[in-house]
Amino acid sequence: MLQDFQPTESYARQLDGQDPLYAFREEFYIPEGTIYLDGNSLGLCSRRAEQSLLLMLESWKQHAIDGWTEGKYPWFYLSEELGARMAALVGAKKEEVVVTGSTTVNLHQLVSTFFRPEGKRTKIVADELNFPSDIYALQSQLRLHGLNPADHLIRVRSRDGRLLDEDDLIHAMTEEVQMVILPTVLYRSGQLLDMERLVKAAHERGILIGFDACHSIGAIPHRFSEWGVDFAFWCTYKYLNSGPGGVAALYVNEKHHGRVPGLAGWFSSRKDKQFDMKHELEHAENAGAFQIGTPHVFSTAPLIGSLEIFAEAGIDRIREKSLRLTRYLMLLIESELAEWGFSIGNPLEDDRRGGHVCLEHDEAVRICKALKAEKVVPDFRAPHVIRLAPVALYTSYHEVWEAVQRLKTIMVEKKYEQYEKVRGVVA
Ligand SMILES: *Cc1c(COP(=O)(O)O)cnc(C)c1O
Repeated sequence: MLQDFQPTESYARQLDGQDPLYAFREEFYIPEGTIYLDGNSLGLCSRRAEQSLLLMLESWKQHAIDGWTEGKYPWFYLSEELGARMAALVGAKKEEVVVTGSTTVNLHQLVSTFFRPEGKRTKIVADELNFPSDIYALQSQLRLHGLNPADHLIRVRSRDGRLLDEDDLIHAMTEEVQMVILPTVLYRSGQLLDMERLVKAAHERGILIGFDACHSIGAIPHRFSEWGVDFAFWCTYKYLNSGPGGVAALYVNEKHHGRVPGLAGWFSSRKDKQFDMKHELEHAENAGAFQIGTPHVFSTAPLIGSLEIFAEAGIDRIREKSLRLTRYLMLLIESELAEWGFSIGNPLEDDRRGGHVCLEHDEAVRICKALKAEKVVPDFRAPHVIRLAPVALYTSYHEVWEAVQRLKTIMVEKKYEQYEKVRGVVA
């Protein structure tokens, strides 16, 4: 890949000229003059997401209460309908995915449903590099069972503070473990775990396994059904561009359909029975059972337009371009920034990295501030990581080239020294 790499501007233009996804850039609102490399925190607004949100407002105006069953996208079926459309992105059957809740709420729902400590199987395996919200949720779930998180939540150690070793994760899958929860892609280092291998290892040991796909959804193809992943959950406001607070999604393998939801509500119901208003829940026989209450329609609506773009671009082409963009960025970092003390913290192999580059530097906080002042938007993750996510649907190769030039200028002219070494409230 990129065997003929050159650090020149004309090479960047040449890559853009060969890019089959280049036209999708036009679909997005890219802030004026800005190189946006933070789509793994909050994806950009597309015209189609905007249109679908406006369409929902219109259906409220026109149909009022009847909007639940009328209009182009009746609200009552929207969560299942969009789950079915999203299924291709995770390699699942349509009935295995539903759009609902938030990442953290969905994790609570799935652990409430699937964590059944029994006999000596009372522990959950996670990892020490996991996103804090997931860890807090797991700790609180253990407490609800009267179990002490200090000895029932096993956080597998990283050998180098960046990456997890699949051998270590498998080693932690002992007879005391009931469930494993891991990220698909680590939010800081961008490491992509070997899910197929981990699922196989967990199942051989009689352990359930679920994944947090926040950092892979919309960037990487998945084969959840084929691998036999028990359950998964993810947000939609990162690579899926559904907007701030956009409604999340979850997947439950069909072999578990029919399970009683741990956190039930009237939207867990079979659709045809919900308005019988009985006190005995007849829960849905698909992923829909894991919904709780009334869907947040306006925070779901942008997904309608956004998922159309994904269907047109195709997740395999998106992954291919994403790998080329991050490879290109790493080659530029090597050739342009070699003398400035940066190191690359993500795995270098294509099949072990996600959608962003993890750039490490002792001055990361101040460099991030200087980049923002130069209209390059990265994000900072404590203590010393600059995350750079060129996004296949809207980042051009030329922007990647330009971003590295601006970063080089910041280093050469020591522009970062004028900033304070403290991170912002929202980093
Ligand atoms: C973004 C992200 C979250 C966010 O959870 P919310 O409930 O949407 O706030 C959780 N876990 C991981 C791994 C994330 O990347």
